[in-house]
Amino acid sequence: MESLRFYIQTFGCQMNDHDSEVLARLLEEDGHLEVADPAEADVILLNTCAIREKAEQKVYSELGRYRPLKERRPDLVLGLGGCVAQGEGRNVLRRAPYVDLVFGTQTVHEVPALIREVRSRRRRVVSTRMTHDPGPMTGFYSRARGRSPRAYVTVMQGCDNYCAYCVVPYVRGRERSRPAAEIVAEVERLVADGVVEVTLLGQNVNSYGRRPPGDVDFPALLRRVAEVDGLGRIRFTTSHPKDLSGALVRAFAEIPAVMPHLHLPIQSGSDRILGAMGRRYTVERYLGLVHALRSARPGIALTSDVIVGFPGETDADFEATLDVLDTVGYDGLFSFKFSPRPGTAAAGLPDPVPEPVKEERLARLQARQQGHTLARNRALEGRVRPVLVEGPSRAGGGQVAGRTPENKIVNFQGDPAWVGREVNVRIVAAAVNSLRGEAVDAGEAAA
Ligand code: SF4
Repeated sequence: MESLRFYIQTFGCQMNDHDSEVLARLLEEDGHLEVADPAEADVILLNTCAIREKAEQKVYSELGRYRPLKERRPDLVLGLGGCVAQGEGRNVLRRAPYVDLVFGTQTVHEVPALIREVRSRRRRVVSTRMTHDPGPMTGFYSRARGRSPRAYVTVMQGCDNYCAYCVVPYVRGRERSRPAAEIVAEVERLVADGVVEVTLLGQNVNSYGRRPPGDVDFPALLRRVAEVDGLGRIRFTTSHPKDLSGALVRAFAEIPAVMPHLHLPIQSGSDRILGAMGRRYTVERYLGLVHALRSARPGIALTSDVIVGFPGETDADFEATLDVLDTVGYDGLFSFKFSPRPGTAAAGLPDPVPEPVKEERLARLQARQQGHTLARNRALEGRVRPVLVEGPSRAGGGQVAGRTPENKIVNFQGDPAWVGREVNVRIVAAAVNSLRGEAVDAGEAAA
């Protein structure tokens, strides 16, 4: 079997990063070798993301950068996968005739065979079919970890929620969960390889086990994963508020390995806008969840997503979102201006918010959040927190960097040999994006 050198360029979110890891593992198992320089590769694959505005244009312009390489070396296999490829399908071959291979979000496992087909039959191949009744998600192991003590593990894929602004259900397909036994086996393998912290990934992990019906739901899965000997920390993302159950709230109180941080996207502080977005919860219900989480795990860090300028959003709706920021006091926030995604329900809605208004609202929202982030970070000054050391700090100067249980990055003087260890660190200074600390005697750390 011929051995090829492959290069993968990944766009977008953690899910996509992880899908690229799965793809790399499949190609390595097929006898191929990853290279860091596309100029040395026999196969170049772009794993794309469709979430942001003008995603397609960006992908086509990126593809164009590889065109001269393809023209110089006609044997090179140039492939496009991920969400943009899923949405575009055969259209890719029309818009970029030099592309050899198009694969979708549910056909990643076919890529090694598709590359063989391209090379042996010298023809271009498209495989983007998507089934509306997918079976369980199996064989989704990633590669053995690199040098990081942290790893991502996919537990489910796709989404059945169809929020009005979101393209995910169209490009990732219906929700499908991975069998619990396969997830636990992957975590065991990662821990044996030195991983201390896993992040369980899915578009909406709270509905894990619903489709196809599984033997465990998400809180029960957390308990199974927490039993893996040697695993210190568990995180998960993303959680849809409407599916956040009492059992999951209790997991924060009862499972010490579940870290005290939850990303819980609210999107808007106005019930009217939440209704138009199809989110299926109210602000009151959301704030009730925040209260329950903070009762279950005092000190839990909360982060969120907000979209400003959804069609029809008034000044009063926007002020209501600012009120939620003040009420919750988030540790961090990802905020975006609304932009219509083709094919989604919100793309056809009347009453668009003018661009300058969106910009002004986004700036105000971000300024307000900065104050909250800083206040939450400053509350940690003087405290000692266990920090999982991940590697040298980007700040340099002999510092290492790691994360607190609340998922805050801490830089401090340390030894690179500490990577993978939890070190007790006193927080001495807080900024918006990170904390500065100093290592202290073991045993001083607060739980
Ligand atoms: S739950 Fe998340 S992934 Fe699913 S449609 Fe809504 S925003 Fe998109």
